[in-house]
Amino acid sequence: MLTKEDLERYDRQIRYEGFGEEGQHKLKASHVVVAGAGGIGCPASTYLACAGVGKITIIDHQAVELSNLNRQILHWDKDIGQEKAVSAANKLRNLNPSIEIAPVTTQITGINARDLIKGASAVLDAMDNFETRAILNQACVTEGIPFVHGGVWGLCGQVTTIIPGKTPCLACLYPQKPEEHKPPPVFGVTPAMVAIIQVVETIKIIAGFGRLLAGQVLYINEGTMDFCFREAVRRPDCEVCGSRGDR
Ligand SMILES: [Zn+2]
Repeated sequence: MLTKEDLERYDRQIRYEGFGEEGQHKLKASHVVVAGAGGIGCPASTYLACAGVGKITIIDHQAVELSNLNRQILHWDKDIGQEKAVSAANKLRNLNPSIEIAPVTTQITGINARDLIKGASAVLDAMDNFETRAILNQACVTEGIPFVHGGVWGLCGQVTTIIPGKTPCLACLYPQKPEEHKPPPVFGVTPAMVAIIQVVETIKIIAGFGRLLAGQVLYINEGTMDFCFREAVRRPDCEVCGSRGDR
C-alpha cells in the first residue's frame, strides 16, 4: 500500500492520468536491475529512485576513476577508488530512503547473469560493451524479462525495448559483434539522454501505459539533433530468440 509519505513524494506523477495511485503502487512493488553504474547507470538509477521503484539492484564490478566523472554523476571526486555499485547506492539511499537499493559488485557473466536478474520486473542495459549486453539479452530472453537496451558513442545514442516472445531481441539486431572502440569518446549529456529514455520505457513497462519502443530502435544524433526510428526485424534463425533458441 502507498503510505502518506508516498502520496506526497510522488504527488506530481500520481496526478498524471493513466498512471495514478495504481501506477505508483506497481512501481513500488517492482524490482529493476540496472546493469552498470556508469554513464547510463548513474542517471538511470537516479530517476528510477526518484520515481519510486521499490527495489533497484545496481551491478558493476569496477571502481570509480577520475575519467568517469564527466558523465557518471553519482560518483563524486571523493569517491575515486570506491566500488561504483557502492558509491551509487550511497547516493541513491540519501535521495530516496523509502526504497531498497541493492549494490552488487560483480562482473556479469554467462554463468551468473540469470541468477542476478531472476524475478526482476525489467533489466536496464547500462553496459559499455557488446559481450555483456549479449549475455544480458540471452538471460532476459530465457527468463522472459523485458530488456531495455541503450548504447552511446560520442554524441550518438540508441534505445530499443525488447519484450521476450513479442519483439526481436538484441541478437536479431546484431548477429555479429559490432566493431568497438575502446574507450569510446563520450560526452556526459549523451548517456544521460539515452538513460532517461530507457527509464521512461521501464516505467511504462511496469505501470502498463503509453506506447513502447518495442520492435523499434530510436537513433539519436545530438551533433545534428536528428532523431530517427527504424523497425527492428526479427530473424527467424536468431540463435537467442529464434525457433532454435526456444527452450
Ligand atoms: Zn533474436
